[in-house]
Amino acid sequence: MSEPWDCVVVGAGAAGLFCAGIAGQLGLRVLVVDHAPKVAEKIRISGGGRCNFTNREASPANYLGENPHFCRSALARYTPADFIGLMRKYGIPFHEKHKGQLFCDRSAEDVIEMLLSECEAGRVTRWQPCKVLDVRATAEGYDIDTDRGTQRTARVVVATGGLSIPKIGATDFGFRLAKQFGHRVVEPRPALVPLTFDAPTWAAFAPLAGIALEVGIETGAGKKPMRFLEDLLFTHRGLSGPAVLQISSFWVPGQPLRIDLAPGRDLGALLREAKGKSKRQLGNELGQLLPQRLAEAWLQRAGVEGGTPMPQARDKDLNALGTALGRWKLLPDGSEGWRKAEVTAGGVDTRELNQQSMESKKQPGLHFIGEVVDVTGWLGGYNFQWAWASAAACARAMAEA
Ligand code: FAD
Repeated sequence: MSEPWDCVVVGAGAAGLFCAGIAGQLGLRVLVVDHAPKVAEKIRISGGGRCNFTNREASPANYLGENPHFCRSALARYTPADFIGLMRKYGIPFHEKHKGQLFCDRSAEDVIEMLLSECEAGRVTRWQPCKVLDVRATAEGYDIDTDRGTQRTARVVVATGGLSIPKIGATDFGFRLAKQFGHRVVEPRPALVPLTFDAPTWAAFAPLAGIALEVGIETGAGKKPMRFLEDLLFTHRGLSGPAVLQISSFWVPGQPLRIDLAPGRDLGALLREAKGKSKRQLGNELGQLLPQRLAEAWLQRAGVEGGTPMPQARDKDLNALGTALGRWKLLPDGSEGWRKAEVTAGGVDTRELNQQSMESKKQPGLHFIGEVVDVTGWLGGYNFQWAWASAAACARAMAEA
């Protein structure tokens, strides 16, 4: 058996590579193993190939999990400004797209190359593809059986991510290992995912596939419903776009969504106002306020004749249209699942992890970072910021130990 490692990181994704690079540069002997032949596949496909690598506004309020304060410390100690500084050091051009979201100008490959350079600077050893067969606690640390032999290490960092997109290497390894060492795993569920509707409900809306518009979207009962103002996209099977991806993380099966198709506007009042001035037909007038196909579908649904000249439209109908478009209530029957989910909500219960070091409170020397942990970011660069921040916290703590 070779010299023991100071740490073996399982998973060469965003969190694993970042942690390995920092730990290596802080003087630890680090091995990274990943069963996939290619490194950091999720970074490669992220942000439409341009990687939304952080969000300038990231704060604990942008994350969900059963223990919402857990992410506070790591996020405060490794901030978006820190990662932006690293991007600048490497001369990687980027731009802000929307609501603080930062994307690479060229390609996500820039971020991968940067992480690999950081690993090189830390003299990190990387084995890929390499399968981990078993992890056993020993008196000195851990024995890890891999298909390249058994490795001895003082610490193990689990950075195997969540379950989304199995075809590029996602597995439940991290959850299984957590359970093996007595950890509770908050039931994983697909998040940031398109929502679907049963075929009879959706038949009327399926012809609207391709239409996109800004909406207000809400779910949840009581005093604190979750609400986002984002773009909605109609698809053949249901709803997608940033509005639905955001709300999907908070949606509970059986609960309806409430959608305002004209946020910030009183369509009933606008139509009544137009009635006094416009000679258009109602369908065309509504088509000035909403995408035309959506306007037509809505009139049909409401049983209102789109060909009615505006001067003859009844106030009652205009008001009812405005109200219905502002409060569209609908019940999803599910989601597109792991195949399409951008992230996994749930994961290793953070009440059993140390928030400074990401180390297990049950099993010394075992750390969990990134998406495998029950910390899930909103859409918009927050998930990578968690990967960087949790990785940095873990690497620094290991080096100081
Ligand atoms: P991952 O990056 O998933 O890395 C896990 C690694 O572990 C993988 O390399 C995998 O091969 C390896 N692994 C898994 N099982 C094993 C095993 N048994 N043995 C060995 N290795 C294993 N977030 C953003 O913030 N901005 C975006 O623009 C963005 N876009 C996205 C687009 C898509 C299509 C998807 C799917 C996700 C996107 N995300 C985005 C989410 C983001 O990619 C993840 O939150 C992030 O990659 C999590 O980092 P991680 O290191 O924890 O896991």
